[in-house]
Amino acid sequence: HIMLSIQGLRAKVADRDILKGVDLEIRAGEIHAIMGPNGSGKSTLAGVLAGREAYEVTGGTATYLGQDLLALAPEARAAAGVFLGFQYPVEIPGVGNLYFLRTALNAIRRARGEDELDAMDFLALAREKMKLVDLDPAFGSRSVNEGFSGGEKKRNEIFQMAVLEPRLAILDEIDSGLDIDALRVVSRGVNALRRADRAVLLVTHYKRLLEHVAPDRIHVMAGGRIVRSGGPELADELERTGYAWVDGARPEVE
Ligand code: ADP
Ligand code: MG
Ligand code: MG
Repeated sequence: HIMLSIQGLRAKVADRDILKGVDLEIRAGEIHAIMGPNGSGKSTLAGVLAGREAYEVTGGTATYLGQDLLALAPEARAAAGVFLGFQYPVEIPGVGNLYFLRTALNAIRRARGEDELDAMDFLALAREKMKLVDLDPAFGSRSVNEGFSGGEKKRNEIFQMAVLEPRLAILDEIDSGLDIDALRVVSRGVNALRRADRAVLLVTHYKRLLEHVAPDRIHVMAGGRIVRSGGPELADELERTGYAWVDGARPEVE
């Protein structure tokens, strides 16, 4: 079934039109990648779907599991299973990493009418997921992302994702600046999430990540639109051709 259906989505940032009619459909069980040149609107699309406040939606629709996603507050989106992993994860000095995550998880569980996890059960869950991403348990008690290296922040994003178990994970350049070991760990986390009733939207500049996480579909974004879509082989072609061709490309009609 269809997990996310985006039609004619338009959005402004700081009074500039950035998304100019995005169409995209993701089915449950699929991993889609969005590639494209810098400034094409990839992060804007991710931010709009997660409900970040810098973006103003000016047209179109986004339907998530049959609900109007754009009508939901960001917390309601999270409770409904939407997760956004950031290109630049925020630091939250003075707030413990596990404390923060348990609060987020329990808010989601409450919104779903589930019992909160107590400290012991949460710790057991967190330990298991930290292993998945090779995150040292010491990172549990440190302030959220404070003083973490770039790679540690990205691992921490994947750790958060693994604990929250979203239905739809949107990962914005989660691979940028990672060495090969961190890239493998991040890929393992994404692959572990893969399930018939979940979907992943990966924003990436590089083919590297897609060698570890096999996408079902690849889309090229340029000028605020998806100008081309294809299967996994599109990544090889893009690596050969670069993105110079997208200037003047018209959205393809599928
Ligand atoms: P991408 O992720 O594809 O590199 P973005 O979605 O980040 O592209 O940016 C698309 C365009 O929107 C760029 O021209 C960028 O400068 C602009 N933009 C993004 N965020 C902001 C912001 N907060 N204020 C002003 N302009 C922004
Ligand atoms: Mg960018
Ligand atoms: Mg970006």
